[in-house]
Amino acid sequence: MPSPSMFTGHCSSMLELSSQMQSLHLAGLSPTELTEFVEGLGEPAYRARQIFAGLHQRRLRSFAEMTDVPKELRAKLGKRSTASTLTVESRYVSADGTRRYLMKTHDGFPVETVFIPEKRRDTICFSSQSGCPLQCTFCLTAQLGLLRNLTAGEIVEQIIIALNDAYGVSVKAPRGTNLVGMGAGEPFLNFESLMRAIRIMAEPDGLHIVPRRVTVSTAGIAPRIRELATIPARPHLAVSLAAPTDELRNDLIPINKKWPLNELLGACEDFQKSLKPGERFTFEYVMLDGVNDSDEQARQLANLLNRYELRAKVNLIPHNPAEPLPYQPSPAARVETFREILESKGIHAFVRQPRGRDILAACGQLAARGATNLAQTASEFAPAKVESLAI
Ligand code: SF4
Repeated sequence: MPSPSMFTGHCSSMLELSSQMQSLHLAGLSPTELTEFVEGLGEPAYRARQIFAGLHQRRLRSFAEMTDVPKELRAKLGKRSTASTLTVESRYVSADGTRRYLMKTHDGFPVETVFIPEKRRDTICFSSQSGCPLQCTFCLTAQLGLLRNLTAGEIVEQIIIALNDAYGVSVKAPRGTNLVGMGAGEPFLNFESLMRAIRIMAEPDGLHIVPRRVTVSTAGIAPRIRELATIPARPHLAVSLAAPTDELRNDLIPINKKWPLNELLGACEDFQKSLKPGERFTFEYVMLDGVNDSDEQARQLANLLNRYELRAKVNLIPHNPAEPLPYQPSPAARVETFREILESKGIHAFVRQPRGRDILAACGQLAARGATNLAQTASEFAPAKVESLAI
């Protein structure tokens, strides 16, 4: 569950500090904050610009590599701060080229990131939390519970690590990079750090991945959908729907009991007013054999979305089976029939091809497990105390 700070407008730079306890994680600072920090060390502002470019544009993960910064300043930085905090524990490469990274935070919590190469662009799926407090029954991550929120610096660093591994340190990515906040965690329960990370990654002198290249997926935190709509430079929105009725959705995505479909889709209706020309938002619909994939449910889903007149598309995602989840994926023919019914009722629907299933990198499979050794379980980590959603 979210930490008490999550909804109280805490200063995020303080979060970066408190998470590191002794050292400030510079990858989580905006250019202005980094300038303040560097000036506080008695150094001129242009040094902050060099350090920011070193961290984000050149993707350097240690001060030692910043050879354009004087040695004395690098030593000073090393005493007061850190350039990187995550360590890569394991890396798995799928037959389809997808890479999954199992990382650890400085205090020992698992973080998972997936790099998905495609013809014209790469997509990096990042995590916003270690574990997840929501209990979606089709998702392996749910079994970890919430371990802790990730800081903005830890979110940014996942992207730096994945790009460095794919292309080499400081090598410009040859294709565009899209980001999806669909890894472990509910991004809207770590909203402030998420938005801070998105702003930092958009900096032209840094990674320069602009918000329109970022999609954030929520299980349905309705108030945050409304809040996102008010942010001018916001990412795209995806909503994990999984069911056309409250009765079924309460079972599959229990947070639905707090924000049932009428509230969720009401928030989407409001969000729709913020859509730019040509922009749609996305509903993700995981296809579970015999559970949510009937013709009748396809009609119910189409009627529901049409009732709210949402400019949306539906991505049908074949479930990715993983022990001990109790579901099987819908057969391909069933998925196709479901898609056709949606289309016949005017809903744009697409079937998403699963990537990286063989290395447990596909949607819903991230649970800090090794691809070959599946013995590592949630019990190895100490789950955070679960509190009620205070929103
Ligand atoms: S599907 Fe997403 S929100 Fe639901 S438990 Fe898994 S990680 Fe959390």
